[in-house]
Amino acid sequence: MILQKCVGCDYHFKWRTLYKGLMIGYKPIQCHRCGTKHKVTFSTRLRVACLTTVPLILLAYFMVPEVFIMSVPFSLISISLVITAIFLTLLTPLVARYNSCDS
Ligand SMILES: [Zn+2]
Repeated sequence: MILQKCVGCDYHFKWRTLYKGLMIGYKPIQCHRCGTKHKVTFSTRLRVACLTTVPLILLAYFMVPEVFIMSVPFSLISISLVITAIFLTLLTPLVARYNSCDS
């Protein structure tokens, strides 16, 4: 998992650029060096959705009192889910893939 490069000039996009594009509704990104516009692929949308939701569902499931051995306060469950969600969104630029808007 490496960060996406520009299709036109192999410029490595910055993590911040990719993250911002993903968090603002999969906004297309533009290469600063050559100006090529890139749009997110459909498979990226699926990967981002799976990466951010599946672990949260599993975490929530295993923290349910009937499943988890110890009883966990609801506030702790909420805080851990929020922290996990934030952490998972930080990983999304690693799985993001873009195509040139021209192709
Ligand atoms: Zn470029």
